[in-house]
Amino acid sequence: MKSITETTTLNNGVKMPWLGLGVYKAEDGNEVAEAIKEAVRVGYRSIDTASVYKNEEGVGQAIHEIDVPREDLFITTKVWNDQQGYEETLKAFEESRQKLGVEVVDLYLVHWPVTGKFLDTWKALEKLYKDGKVRAIGVSNFKVHHLEALLKEAKVVPVVNQVEYHPLLTQPELHNYCKEKGIQLEAWSPLTRGRIFEDKRLTAMSEKYGKTPAQIILRWDLENEVVTIPKSVTPSRIQANAEIFDFQLEREDVEKLNSMNQNHRFGADPDEFV
Ligand code: NDP
Repeated sequence: MKSITETTTLNNGVKMPWLGLGVYKAEDGNEVAEAIKEAVRVGYRSIDTASVYKNEEGVGQAIHEIDVPREDLFITTKVWNDQQGYEETLKAFEESRQKLGVEVVDLYLVHWPVTGKFLDTWKALEKLYKDGKVRAIGVSNFKVHHLEALLKEAKVVPVVNQVEYHPLLTQPELHNYCKEKGIQLEAWSPLTRGRIFEDKRLTAMSEKYGKTPAQIILRWDLENEVVTIPKSVTPSRIQANAEIFDFQLEREDVEKLNSMNQNHRFGADPDEFV
C-alpha cells in the first residue's frame, strides 16, 4: 500500500479506502466539519460516524461544503443499540440519511450485536441494500459466534466487521474467521487513544523507522490488511496519521507487534455490553 487513495475491494465489489477518519467524540457542527475538511485536504476520503455520535449533521455539512464529488467519498454510519429491530432500523436509517444529507450511504453497520435483535436488524439492512439506499452493509463488534448466528440466516454476507483492534488486542481467531468468510476487518480505537505510545517496543520501532508510534501502529494495521480509522480533530495529527504510505514495516517488526497481543480490551466486551 503506497498511497492514501488505495482501497480494499469488499465482498460485493465496492471499494473502501484502507484509511479513514473516525469522528467519535468530535462535536457536532464546526468541530467535526473542520476535522473532515482538513482530512479531505490531505487526502482522506472515508469518514466513520454513527447515529450515537450525534454529529451526523456536522458530517453532512462538511460533505456539502467540500469540493470533492460525493462519489469520491466513502461515508459509514451505524444503527445504535436502542434503534435495533426491523422497523426501528429502517426508521433510524432514514434519520441518519437525512442528517447526513445524502441520497445513498456507502456503508451501514449494525453497531453492536444486540441479543435478540441483531438478526431482525440485519434483515432491515438487507432491505436497505436491496433497495439501493446503501452501497454496502456490515457489522461491528461481532464475535465469531455472532457471525455464525448471522450467517445462518443472512442472505447477504456482511462486507465489514469493525472491531476494537490494536497491538494489545489482535483477535487472531476472529480475524481468520472473517478472512475465510470474505469479511474485511476494520480497526476501531486503532491508537488506543494514545495509551500505548510509551511502550518500549513501539518507541524502538519509532526510532528505527523515523516515524511516530501512532504512525507505526497505523502502518501495522495496513500490513495486517486491516482497514483503520484513527480519530482526530487536531489538524497536525490528522495529517500525521495519514503519513503512513511512504514506508513499510519489515515482516519481523509486524510479527513483533502482533506478539504484543494480550487480548486486552479498553472498550466493552460485546458479550457483556449488549
Ligand atoms: P483512536 O485510537 O483513534 O484515538 C483517538 C484519540 O487519540 C483522540 O483523543 C485523538 O485526539 C488522539 N490522537 C489521534 N491521533 C493522534 C496522534 N497522532 N498522536 C497523539 N494522539 C492522537 O480512538 P477512537 O476510539 O476514537 O477510535 C477511532 C474511531 O473508531 C472512532 O472515532 C469511531 O469512528 C470508531 N469507533 C467505533 C466503535 C464501534 O463500536 N464501532 C467504538 C469506538 C470507536 P484529538 O482528536 O484531540 O487529536
